[in-house]
Amino acid sequence: RPSVVFEDVVFGYDRDRTILKGLSFEVPAGHHVALVGPSGAGKSTIGRLLFRFYDPWSGRILIDGQDIAEVSQTSLRAALGIVPQDSVLFNDTIGYNIGYGHPTGEATPAQIEAAAQAAALSGLIERLPARFDTEVGERGLKLSGGEKQRVAIARTLVKNPPILLLDEATSALDTRTEQDILATLHALSENRTSLSIAHRLSTIVDSDSILVLQDGRLVEQGNHAQLLRMD
Ligand code: ADP
Ligand code: ADP
Repeated sequence: RPSVVFEDVVFGYDRDRTILKGLSFEVPAGHHVALVGPSGAGKSTIGRLLFRFYDPWSGRILIDGQDIAEVSQTSLRAALGIVPQDSVLFNDTIGYNIGYGHPTGEATPAQIEAAAQAAALSGLIERLPARFDTEVGERGLKLSGGEKQRVAIARTLVKNPPILLLDEATSALDTRTEQDILATLHALSENRTSLSIAHRLSTIVDSDSILVLQDGRLVEQGNHAQLLRMD
């Protein structure tokens, strides 16, 4: 279970606009840190930098003490699992959709089944060979928003990543489904280091500390009780 550290990270997509303005924080090994803040604050950008879709202008990002600029793409991908808000499912079997998350794309049936189980996809386990179909599911399997999100979670889990990045993982769901999925994510974070991005305090997966990002800067840091007074 590695730690994640941002060290004075400065970044923008265009030269004339800085998005992250010298950002420093640490997610200690095995801890769960949440990141909240208004839309546009730069929260998702942090995730994109972690995956090295972009590199910082200055500053460093460390995983387990190692600058990610010096880590191979393969080990970076193995270390990080992301659960995004809207995952794209392929018109293919549920099993394929889950196994696709494996670094080699060739998860074994046992790995796929274990991931489905961990994502609490119990009702779908017998239907792993069934096809999901975006074409309003005439021939294919219809999945609810929550089921689709569980498939996405299973896809992430199939590689058993030590670090979980949850980027608004439940914000596209209705409240009841959101609570169910939050409980699952909570259980899955248990043995991992996690960074959970949310725009509301109430949808944070249990966290050891919460960082508030505003306009590319950390403006507050505290636990749930301290921050609820300011929500
Ligand atoms: P948040 O996740 O907090 O809502 P983001 O990290 O997505 O914020 O975006 C931060 C800022 O960066 C926003 O103003 C957004 O418009 C801008 N931005 C995001 N992605 C790009 C991009 N690919 N090119 C240019 N600007 C972008
Ligand atoms: P792969 O090796 O299959 O491309 P990755 O582990 O790199 O998978 O990422 C898993 C999935 O999450 C991919 O579909 C990727 O596009 C998506 N992804 C990765 N990082 C982000 C991010 N910051 N925001 C949204 N989606 C992301």
